[in-house]
Amino acid sequence: MKQFEPNLHRELTTLLAAGGIEDAELEAKWILEDAASEAQARQIAKRRANHEPLQYLLGEWEFYGLPFCVGEGVLIPRPDTETLVDAVLSRIPDRSGQQILDLCTGSGCIALTLAANLPHSHITGLEKSPAALRYAQKNQELLHIKNAQMLEKDVLLPETAAAYHSLAAIVSNPPYLTADDMANLQEEVRYEPAAALDGGKDGLHFYREITRLWRDALCAGGLLAYEVGVYQANDVAAILSQNGFRHIECIRDLGGIERVVLGRKESS
Ligand code: GLN
Repeated sequence: MKQFEPNLHRELTTLLAAGGIEDAELEAKWILEDAASEAQARQIAKRRANHEPLQYLLGEWEFYGLPFCVGEGVLIPRPDTETLVDAVLSRIPDRSGQQILDLCTGSGCIALTLAANLPHSHITGLEKSPAALRYAQKNQELLHIKNAQMLEKDVLLPETAAAYHSLAAIVSNPPYLTADDMANLQEEVRYEPAAALDGGKDGLHFYREITRLWRDALCAGGLLAYEVGVYQANDVAAILSQNGFRHIECIRDLGGIERVVLGRKESS
């Protein structure tokens, strides 16, 4: 147990609150739990008071009950995305030899939680950014996951999609913020890579391209499951329908927002 001076928690809480951090008391506690020394705790709190994401400062964040390394250059796993993992796990049985792809995998949080929960399946995470991919690969190693691989690929290139076929499922939390959202990002989110957030003018660019380019990589009846942004569910459901997907569903997250859109590739 670390022996920090008894008033340090109060000092950090005051520092964080002065910077406008809402849960100052709780965050001060987490910083103290993480820090190796008083000086380091003060340093982290100072940066946090300037709205650097707490997740980057701590270097690790939990997703679906597992710890993930995060830092500059990779999107921080969000609890909303657990809705996508739940949706896929409740629809895809764990079959040996079955292949599942996670497009724009980032930290690998979706691919690796699927792999941990579907031990007989094989999950591939594709990521364009080398910096983000390094986190995915490191996370796979730290979580000792054997039934997954993380590859550097641009999922919007037709040749990437053409290399895959007979997939049981494709999942993705692609960049989906609109140009408007990008111009009004919360201070913390500005530290995250724009490439992981920017979904083009209307936020739907990746849904249009992925749905069109990757349809043929699925097996008949294969599942395509997306996380979507607020108010995007109907538009994404329409994109799926236009591309020949059936049994389309929209699923709400814990906040009541339609967060996941999924469908099945037509069987014939
Ligand atoms: N959920 C993220 C946000 O609202 C966006 C992630 C994404 O674009 N996929 O900041």
